[in-house]
Amino acid sequence: MTRPMLQVNALKKHFRVGKKDVLQAVNDVTFSVDTGETLGLVGESGCGKSTVGRTIMGLYERTSGEVVYNGQRVHELSAKDQTIFHRSLQMIFQDPYASLNPRSTVREIIAEPMIIHKMTMTKAERLERVIQLLEEVGLNRDHANRYPHEFSGGQRQRIGIARALALNPDFIIADEPISALDVSVQAQVVNLLQQLQQEKQLTFLFIAHDLSMVKHISDRIGVMYLGHLVELTESRHLYEQPRHPYTQALLSAIPIPDPDIEKERERIILQGDLPSPINPPSGCVFRTRCPAAMDICSVQKPIFREVEPGHHVACHLYE
Ligand code: SF4
Repeated sequence: MTRPMLQVNALKKHFRVGKKDVLQAVNDVTFSVDTGETLGLVGESGCGKSTVGRTIMGLYERTSGEVVYNGQRVHELSAKDQTIFHRSLQMIFQDPYASLNPRSTVREIIAEPMIIHKMTMTKAERLERVIQLLEEVGLNRDHANRYPHEFSGGQRQRIGIARALALNPDFIIADEPISALDVSVQAQVVNLLQQLQQEKQLTFLFIAHDLSMVKHISDRIGVMYLGHLVELTESRHLYEQPRHPYTQALLSAIPIPDPDIEKERERIILQGDLPSPINPPSGCVFRTRCPAAMDICSVQKPIFREVEPGHHVACHLYE
């Protein structure tokens, strides 16, 4: 059995809010990502999926649990190994407008990680590398001396991708990389990421708020709700046989292009609002909106368990 590239074990990230409150952004999240795999992580805004990505990257300090990368616990790495880890694992951010410094040229933006990580190369070699990266993401050398505001949203995300690739990473965490883009360019960016994955043998954690966005790019998909991972399985299997009531509701909201099937289809409308992660419901966190909730759901937290090979669900219906 091959060792997963990334293992996230019982990861917890809580934030203190004010004097007394604690926001439970991520609770006991466990999953792994194999080399060359794309794992999609999906859930409504505020479900903790981006916090998972940022905690893996070390942008947030974990509350408890562990992140294991290539067999090594990240929080136990020496300073030198931390640097190697931060080269190997890069992030693409949701908002290309906010993540690119408006006062820097594209050339400076893409070259910055190489300078920070003190890559041994001359200025000319660095410029050549910037141009190579621009071409790899579908831009060209003429773009190097321009500023971010001179580009469209899709082009800016390509610049963000080029910067993420500058250090030759092995693993990319893409945090809603297409959510801020026009629908017409979303597919282009997804295609580019898939093409780069094949060319460079990249491994991806692809975070999105909508299941339809991750369908074509993910090998497996994890669904998050209020800081918890509630279901995880192979991508096609999730669409064909969703088990968790929340996943079923999310899938029922995706329109089907065939008008006859679409007319007949039953939509599961979730009642109520997403509860606050400062004061989550007892037992199963989904119980206040779950159409299948039972008595046990308010007193006992369901365990995230394997209900069939490779298919994990946290729900009392499958115990
Ligand atoms: Fe619904 Fe209960 Fe399953 Fe939670 S554990 S998803 S409330 S049936």
